[in-house]
Amino acid sequence: MIDKATADQLNKRASLLAIAVSGFLCILKIFAALYTGSLSVLSSMVDSLSDIIGSIVTFFAIKISSLPASENHRYGYGKIEALSALFQSAFIAASACFIIFGGIKRFKDTTSIEQTSMGLVIMMISLIATFAIIYYQKRVYRKTQSQAILADSAHYVVDIATNISIITTLLVVKYFKIFWFDSLVAILISSYLLYTAYKLAADAIRMILDVELSKEIRSQVETSITKLPFVGDIHDLRTRNIGGVYNFEFHLELDGALSLNQAHAYAHQVEDDLKKLYPRSQVIIHQEPAGIKDDRLDEKIKNKH
Ligand SMILES: [Zn+2]
Ligand SMILES: [Zn+2]
Repeated sequence: MIDKATADQLNKRASLLAIAVSGFLCILKIFAALYTGSLSVLSSMVDSLSDIIGSIVTFFAIKISSLPASENHRYGYGKIEALSALFQSAFIAASACFIIFGGIKRFKDTTSIEQTSMGLVIMMISLIATFAIIYYQKRVYRKTQSQAILADSAHYVVDIATNISIITTLLVVKYFKIFWFDSLVAILISSYLLYTAYKLAADAIRMILDVELSKEIRSQVETSITKLPFVGDIHDLRTRNIGGVYNFEFHLELDGALSLNQAHAYAHQVEDDLKKLYPRSQVIIHQEPAGIKDDRLDEKIKNKH
């Protein structure tokens, strides 16, 4: 494995390269869309544009979300990432709807598509550039194992498919003069964009509404705590993800005869163990003498089922 500083630099270089190439493609596609009048080329331009906006928004969101807690925001700024995802999602959804309505309108009054050769050349350049980004990101991922790069790369694999479908469309239009085929492909691509916007928004809303972490993480937390010899049990475990920082809150059952000093030392050991498991996590522990009856969240949830 390479060290963290080198990995960060490689990841940063890969993201910057992707932004630069997307920007270049976006400008080319604006010209291609204007000259050809093709809606499917326009939808591909919107896709490139949302890639750039997405990368820029994510860049600033990560900067803000990693700011330390302040006087008025003592939980930090992690949720800004969910807000930025919502913003991105709104942009993608609005542009996708714009193209879908345009496509439906064109089914009725067919506009001819011109300059298909130029459109084809630009889409070919786009296809090759997209392959190059994927190849470079794969190489960086092999060295850094960055999940963000992997997710970004998965997106460009989809772009390969849209590029190929647009090239096919332009060929169909050029040689068979089937103009409605362009509207059809534009609507299909935009529907896919709409779907990605929905998934982005759903994830963001889940984070804002404090959705629980996966069952695997919950049980990993539970076993790492209960395996300690001085821990009776835990209950009312609540977990959430605030911008990549896992938060764990729970009631820790200890021997009621312990001194406060000893109980505090034990609670700290539990916290340290969890932080070894999840280095960037926040842990809030409510210490409790084992065996008392309290009003438990676990019970309330169980009784609902
Ligand atoms: Zn309790
Ligand atoms: Zn303490």
